[in-house]
Amino acid sequence: MSKVTDIYGSMVFNEHTMRERLPKATYKQLMRTIKEGAPLDEDVANVVAHAMKEWAIEKGATHYTHWFQPLTGITSEKHDSFIDPTDDGLTIMTFSGKELIQGEPDASSFPSGGLRATFEARGYTAWDPTSYAFIKDEVLCIPTAFCSYTGEALDKKTPLLRSMKAIDVQARRVLALFGDDSSERVTTTLGAEQEYFLISEKDYEQRMDLMICGRTLFGYSPCKGQELEEHYFGAIRPTVNNFMKELDDELWKLGVSARTKHNEVAPAQHELAPIFAETNRGVDENLLTMEKMRLLASHYGLVCLQHEKPFEFINGSGKHNNWSIAVGGKNLLDPGENPMENLRFLVFLTCVIEAVDEYQELLRMSAASAGNDHRLGANEAPPAIVSMFLGDELGAIVDALVDDHDYTSAERVSMDLGVDVLPNFIKDNTDRNRTSPFAFTGNKFEFRMPGSAQNLSDANMVLNTAMAKSLKGFADQMEGKEGEAFEAAAIDYIKRTLTDHARIIFNGDGYAHEWEEEAARRGLANHRTTADALPCMVDQKSIDLFAEFGVLTETELRSRYEVKLEKYNKIMNIECRTMKRLVRRDYLPAINRYAAKLAHGITAIKEVLPDGDTSFMEEKLRRLVAGAAEINIQLEKLHGLHRASVDIADQQERANMNAHEIVPVMDALRHAVDEMEIIVEREAWPVPTYNEILFYA
Ligand code: ADP
Ligand code: MG
Repeated sequence: MSKVTDIYGSMVFNEHTMRERLPKATYKQLMRTIKEGAPLDEDVANVVAHAMKEWAIEKGATHYTHWFQPLTGITSEKHDSFIDPTDDGLTIMTFSGKELIQGEPDASSFPSGGLRATFEARGYTAWDPTSYAFIKDEVLCIPTAFCSYTGEALDKKTPLLRSMKAIDVQARRVLALFGDDSSERVTTTLGAEQEYFLISEKDYEQRMDLMICGRTLFGYSPCKGQELEEHYFGAIRPTVNNFMKELDDELWKLGVSARTKHNEVAPAQHELAPIFAETNRGVDENLLTMEKMRLLASHYGLVCLQHEKPFEFINGSGKHNNWSIAVGGKNLLDPGENPMENLRFLVFLTCVIEAVDEYQELLRMSAASAGNDHRLGANEAPPAIVSMFLGDELGAIVDALVDDHDYTSAERVSMDLGVDVLPNFIKDNTDRNRTSPFAFTGNKFEFRMPGSAQNLSDANMVLNTAMAKSLKGFADQMEGKEGEAFEAAAIDYIKRTLTDHARIIFNGDGYAHEWEEEAARRGLANHRTTADALPCMVDQKSIDLFAEFGVLTETELRSRYEVKLEKYNKIMNIECRTMKRLVRRDYLPAINRYAAKLAHGITAIKEVLPDGDTSFMEEKLRRLVAGAAEINIQLEKLHGLHRASVDIADQQERANMNAHEIVPVMDALRHAVDEMEIIVEREAWPVPTYNEILFYA
């Protein structure tokens, strides 16, 4: 057993390795690029590439790859070996600065939303030096951004980096008003809590719906769900524990700071949370975590399910996006110790509230996917309405600011809200509202809408850009003011802005039906499905926002909207096809076979015992036959709608049909099949049931 401190980061070309391996001058220049965004020239790149290659080869690497995140959301890699054969039949191993900085994958098969015609397939990848290179399975992976030759972003990372730049610029303006003129970059931080399921390979292989769609399209509710609350934080069973141990080891080698692991609420559900990192690295690390989870599960005869809703009737999986802003290790969402820090905190808090309210639809959009539609709005996940929870203490402070009355703390000390006596309030960590989609948790916000399968770049890109916009609003109005005049103007700004956006704050039960009505009265958006959530992407307001901060051009935004629509429609198409095929070829035949068997049984019994009472068997037979007929009706209905949907050329129209007409029929078909599952004899049912899948040994 090697010590954690020895293996941690051993496969990462991190700052420590760079300092050790690079000539001093090169190291300094690279650090300036990483920390301050200074451009990197090719000479420096050559030196870095050489050192990286030597290091990688020592660690057993034979190939390198530009590791990037196309709009599919998952990561892509194409491996190139370092070999460079010599005339004498041997080879040397080479890797140049140019190869480090730029790559040219043949990218014709990645989604681009019409940005890149296939005949003009070339895109290029560009090194992101702020994300460390690492070695995975003997391949040196270089985190890169992926763009078209005309400069449009074709990936998830580029706009995320641009949004981090935007928030950096605007936050520095705000900090300067507080007398903080440091040259350090302001960054956002991300801690992604990854939920997942582990099931046995044996069961998985018999469930075509899981294999193709990542979720079960059928399945009667298990006899036991999560109601005994025995799984959450329960003792981890040995196989799973061994899996988690290897996962930790592998992640630690990659410098991924896996920290917390536990059983989640639903049976067979688990969670891993890392220590937070700068957002772009946080996203990279989360993607690596997901990949390692999938791969390593197979070592234990397990399959890792990362779909948002693999099983109906029990909780689905989310990916809580813990988000904050920091400068030089100082968390700007920390209420701080003294009045000035309090005021700075209140400014940042106010800006977050404004950003979330103004761009609530974009935030909802960022978490929209076919998979997450089964989760958002169901009774275990945040509703599809974006609202914010601040906790009792902070909520009371905001109320006091909005209503312009004195703030009384929990200890009943009355305080004036003049700036020099702003309450030095304690972190409100106790009262967590689990039903809130966007909750303040002491010194960060937790955005809970994103789904377990998603790439968090979108959510953070929206959040950062919206935040940059509100910080800019503040800086624009305050610049030029100093001392007490600044403080008074800032307090006034806070009060006005909080008043304007108070509607987004909701401390009650987000699952309650009354909240939906109340939210409607407040004018909050409630986009229940992906089809409803996506169109806001191309609203003028969104186009203006992303253009103003150079995060996405209108063309890029429109292409992303297309890609998301297409992906949604493709997934719906796959699910429809899988559903129809399984019903026709597995479920209906099984039900019919069993019905025939029962019918023969009844006839046989009647022959032997002409006056025996077989009415209960006949009743069951009647239910089976009626059930099969109902399945057939729903199947034909689905078939008709599905056929009609694939002919719709307009992707939004097709998405609307999927969300509003097809999904209800899929639900009805599923329900009809599930009703038969519990009356057909176990042996005759063609697939493992929820009972078996969720409660494996
Ligand atoms: P929970 O009770 O929700 O599990 P934790 O305090 O354990 O709360 O944090 C959950 C996640 O939030 C972890 O991944 C953690 O690293 C992350 N986190 C903590 N502080 C920050 C921060 N300042 N910025 C971003 N993420 C953070
Ligand atoms: Mg949490």
